[in-house]
Amino acid sequence: QRRPLVAANWKMNGTLATLRPLLAEVIAGLDDGAAEVALCPAFVYLAEVAAAVADSRIAVGAQNVSEYTYGAYTGEVSAAMLKDYNCRFVIVGHSERRNLYAETDAGVAARFRAAQAAGLTPILCVGETLAEREADATEAVVGRQLNAVLTAVDDFAGAVVAYEPVWAIGTGRTASPEQAQAVHAFIRGQLPAACRQQTRILYGGSVKADNAATLFAMEDIDGGLIGGASLDARAFLDICHAA
Ligand code: 13P
Repeated sequence: QRRPLVAANWKMNGTLATLRPLLAEVIAGLDDGAAEVALCPAFVYLAEVAAAVADSRIAVGAQNVSEYTYGAYTGEVSAAMLKDYNCRFVIVGHSERRNLYAETDAGVAARFRAAQAAGLTPILCVGETLAEREADATEAVVGRQLNAVLTAVDDFAGAVVAYEPVWAIGTGRTASPEQAQAVHAFIRGQLPAACRQQTRILYGGSVKADNAATLFAMEDIDGGLIGGASLDARAFLDICHAA
C-alpha cells in the first residue's frame, strides 16, 4: 500500500550544460509506472528544474533547508523559498551534511520541523559509518538519529526516511538486500504506531540499475535515494522503472 518513491540527489554535480540534457532525457524517458519520482538539484537549479518538470509527473526536492523561517542567515535557504519553486520534498540530515558540515541530531530535527511547518515533505536521512557497523552499533546510531527527530515533532506522518549506510555512499559497495532490509525493519519498528505502516523508507548507497530491483523487492524498502546513478539518465530511468 506504500507507493514507491525514487528520488535523485544530484548533490553538487554538473552545470546547466550537463544538467539540461539529463533533465530532458529523464522527462522524455519516464514511463507512467507505479513509483513517484523526484529530482533534487542544487538550490540554484530549482527554478530551472521546477519549470521543466511542470507538465510531467516528476516532483522537485531540495537538498537541504534552513531551520529558521527568515532573517540574517547568510548562505541559507528557507522552507518558504523552496515552496516558491514548487518543491515538494527536501532532504534533511544527509550524512554529507552531518559529517562534512557538522550538522547535529538536534540541528537536523530543527530543519525537519521547519520543512514540515512549511508543508514540505522531509526525507530524513539516517545511517551508520563503517566503524559503527563493525562495532555493532548500527541500530544504536540509526535509532539515535531517528529518535532525535521523533522526539522533536508532534507528528511524523507523511515524512519519508532514507536509510543510507555511510560506507555504501559513493563507494560502489551496496548493502545487500538482506542487510538493508534488516535496518529498514528496525527503523519501521521505531516509528510511531500511527504512521508505522504507511511511512516510506528509502534505501540509498550505490543503488544502480542492476541492483535496484532486488533492493526494492524487500518488504520494508519503499524506493531509493540515488546519488551517482541519478546523473546518468538511462541508469536513473531504469532504477525508476524497477520500483
Ligand atoms: P550514491 O548513490 O552515489 O552512493 O549516493 C547515495 C546518496 O548519498 C544519495 O543521497
